[in-house]
Amino acid sequence: MNDPACDKAAVLVVDDDPGARLLAQSALEFAGFRVVCAPDGAAGLAAFRASSPDCIVLDVIMPGMNGFDMCDQVRAAPGGAHVPILMMTSLDDMDSVSRAYTAGATDFVSKGVNPMLLAQRVKFLVRAKQTQDRLRTSEERIRHLAYYDPLTHLPNRQRLIEVLGPLTAWAGARDRRVAVMSIDIDNFSRIDDTLDQADGDALLVAIASRLKHALRDPERAVAPELQLEAVEPVDWLARIGGNEFALAVPGVPDVQAALLVARRIQSTLARPFMVGGTEVPVTATIGIGVYPEDGADPQTLLKHAHAAMHHGKKNGRGSCELFMQSISKRAAHHLSLEADLHKALERGEFQLHYQPRLRTQDLRVDAVEALLRWKHPQRGMVPPDEFIPLAEQSGLIVDIGDWVMSEACAQLARWRREGVHWNVAINVSGVQFRDGTLPARVSRAMSAAGVDAGGVELEFTEGALIENSRRVSHAVSALKELGLAIALDDFGTGYSSLSYLRRFPIDTLKIDRMFVRDIKSVHGGDAPLVDAIMAMARSLSLDTVAEGVETDVQWQYLRMRDATQVQGFLFCRPLPVAELLDWHASWIRGRLPQLTGAA
Ligand code: C2E
Ligand code: CA
Ligand code: CA
Repeated sequence: MNDPACDKAAVLVVDDDPGARLLAQSALEFAGFRVVCAPDGAAGLAAFRASSPDCIVLDVIMPGMNGFDMCDQVRAAPGGAHVPILMMTSLDDMDSVSRAYTAGATDFVSKGVNPMLLAQRVKFLVRAKQTQDRLRTSEERIRHLAYYDPLTHLPNRQRLIEVLGPLTAWAGARDRRVAVMSIDIDNFSRIDDTLDQADGDALLVAIASRLKHALRDPERAVAPELQLEAVEPVDWLARIGGNEFALAVPGVPDVQAALLVARRIQSTLARPFMVGGTEVPVTATIGIGVYPEDGADPQTLLKHAHAAMHHGKKNGRGSCELFMQSISKRAAHHLSLEADLHKALERGEFQLHYQPRLRTQDLRVDAVEALLRWKHPQRGMVPPDEFIPLAEQSGLIVDIGDWVMSEACAQLARWRREGVHWNVAINVSGVQFRDGTLPARVSRAMSAAGVDAGGVELEFTEGALIENSRRVSHAVSALKELGLAIALDDFGTGYSSLSYLRRFPIDTLKIDRMFVRDIKSVHGGDAPLVDAIMAMARSLSLDTVAEGVETDVQWQYLRMRDATQVQGFLFCRPLPVAELLDWHASWIRGRLPQLTGAA
């Protein structure tokens, strides 16, 4: 009868009938529980507070406080929201059952049920609660890790975006502005290359600390009545990338004031930093977006500040650029790129490259991810990060996505004929979900190529799932019914909410390369998010794919942590089909036996 789940778990039995109490108590003790008993609602409530049980078995009709009322009060009490409550109704009518649920009961049994059965029911409830508790803990941990940069302890991009919501609302209500700055350390990778890793980290920490001290001068300190509930309208500094910081300055009167702040930041960096006994000069390029002129929502503001910074880089190190100035120049560039994008499909300028996803167990290729390439006649290879957002904005991604699917399925069919048993993973953008025709499009592409769904996997980002939840969840279920496997891409960079994982029938989590990059030693400790995500995936029985594996250390680490698959430059870059086959031939002959330690 011993079940580790029940060891040490405590059950509170509340019943005014001493005989029933005793029966329940012995059956539960026999099943391995610790049991606390109480003869009525008031005593039950006191016992709940004193012993915080893992489950409550509760009689309905008792003198004084009845079971419904006690249930109500437990739910309202601290720590009472999640404890499972099993109600025993002697009244088999639906009325008391529904009253039990309204009062917050988890489940009910009819009174006089075989005590052994009762113990089994309790066991089930306790086990379910323990699973939920574990998930809640890992969710909280992920949330915390997901909000702060472990190196500088500054808030990260995600946190900044959340903070910007109330900050802009605050400013909007008062007809004020919020300046958002993207502060990028010039040539950081070159500086970083000349330092060892500890010194590179120390430099970043020192930069963060100087930036922090350059924030808002005292005379602009905000009056207490302007304090918001969760977010004070003070300056917010965040680290949003390897060498990119961001600053939100709420309450600036105009663009000139924002420029002044930017200049002050640049001058605090002008004094060289002392790192590892040498002087390191540092400059920063700053891009500025101003709410509400340059964007109405946090993402847009940050994106525009970043774009302005990028543009500023063209004017040389240490410059400062306003989004308004850069927009007209960039718009021209984008317009011409977008016009070309329209023609790219019919001109056959797209191509798919494939990058292997290898089984961690034996480093054999399990699947390949199809990655889109655009060979522009004048500009050469345009990276997907540049043209996919454009294609999404203009809706062209739907046609392009169709092309990707039919091309990838056709390739899958060719491989099947040649006896190559790799699956193909296809990236799908949120925009492709919008009109609800995605499942039909996918199945059309598969049947045109004559491949079955078992060979195809789709990769969505969390953003795609959030965008239009009901339509998306229909589409995802339909795709699942077709038999496709579904992977959640870039996991951890977006909302990372468990609710998405529970709501959608996902098979695989792809751990974003941003987190894999943090793995610096085989023994770990420096990549807590990877660990947290793996733990979460395990508890939900999901497979994991670690992306962006570039070093042997990362690979060893991921192997020890039982990632299901690994993908990255360490093994193979995305390649055109012919080169991929060459790579595979030499992989089987050469590297694979070495890495797996075979003779
Ligand atoms: P993604 O889905 O996260 O794809 C993985 C990206 O990581 C690829 O970039 C790949 O080349 C890169 N990568 C793989 N291994 C490593 C590594 O070890 N180190 C580093 N630093 N990078 C690595 P790529 O091909 O530039 O694609 C960028 C993004 O464009 C993709 O990110 C995906 O979101 C999007 N994309 C690509 N093809 C398609 C497509 O057909 N449809 C849609 N909707 N999006 C696509
Ligand atoms: Ca992907
Ligand atoms: Ca990804």
